Amino acid sequence: MRALLFKDFGAIELADVPKPGLEEPGDALVKVTTTAICGSDLHVINGRIPGMSPGGILGHEFIGVIEEVTPEVTRFAEGDRVLGSFMIPCGHCWYCTRRLYSRCPDNRVFGYGAFLGDVNGAQAEYVRVPNADLALHTVDPSMSDERALFAGDIFTTAYDCAVEARIEKGDSIAVVGCGPVGLMAVQAARAFEPATIFAIDTVSQRLEMAQTFGAVPIDAGDCHVPSHIQDHTDGRGVDAVLECVGVVAALLDSIDMVRAGGHVSVIGVHSDPELVLPLNITFVKAVDLKFCGTANIVGRWDDALGLVASGKADPEAIISHRMNLSDAERGYELFAARQALKVVLTP
Ligand SMILES: [Zn+2]
Ligand SMILES: [Zn+2]
Repeated sequence: MRALLFKDFGAIELADVPKPGLEEPGDALVKVTTTAICGSDLHVINGRIPGMSPGGILGHEFIGVIEEVTPEVTRFAEGDRVLGSFMIPCGHCWYCTRRLYSRCPDNRVFGYGAFLGDVNGAQAEYVRVPNADLALHTVDPSMSDERALFAGDIFTTAYDCAVEARIEKGDSIAVVGCGPVGLMAVQAARAFEPATIFAIDTVSQRLEMAQTFGAVPIDAGDCHVPSHIQDHTDGRGVDAVLECVGVVAALLDSIDMVRAGGHVSVIGVHSDPELVLPLNITFVKAVDLKFCGTANIVGRWDDALGLVASGKADPEAIISHRMNLSDAERGYELFAARQALKVVLTP
């Protein structure tokens, strides 16, 4: 089968590799119908997520049709159309039994290499899915691949961030960063009926898209964002901030722009080992600072898919490029150069 392989740091290649088979109890084999390139795939390629070996198959966002299952799989059968979760929780540890799947110490991730379970990815014609009863979700026939796809990763990730931000009806909130996850966060936040969603970025196309999703765009290159937000919230700041960037400056700005007693929910991936945090301000403002870590896909994708099914969210609106898997290398180039917002691939 054709698959997109990690070759070396900074290098990928499309190649013919053996079709995977069932390996462990609970496995399913899925024929991939649609897959996508995610920002974290770039981290795998550049080594920020370490452990990938040459020849490993990339990718963790996919939809497909089940071709074969092991007898241990109880929820799915051959021919079922399924959405994959990027994470594969164990299903039986202290965390999993409490539905805190993203905290599972034995979580595996498709296409992330040796430190996250050594499971091949889904940018291929077929993918082996371990623990399929947990890592797969049925897809309603009324929902297209593109519409359902992001509930397996970025849309549910953004929804997780919105839940943790404890948004209440009528609130004013801010979404910091309008990359794919930030744009999904604007859509997910709408489910909680805030009165105002400020969307912050410096890229005009992303701000325009956030505006079409109902947000008030703020170009961070044009103003001091926390001051601007205070001017538009009677001097208080917003009730909640969804931080979707993952750099220190964005986190500090988030603490600056939230009102006293407000919530900052952080889904942007932080990797700095330390931070100079103004503890005095953070303490006096009583900021509720919540780091989401890896989002709880398996615990929250029912709700996220419900939003998509009801039409309250349109995740596929962020797709900028549709390509065949054979053009995946070009897709990665465009995505890395930020000329593509979201690339979906058809094997
Ligand atoms: Zn991802
Ligand atoms: Zn577990």
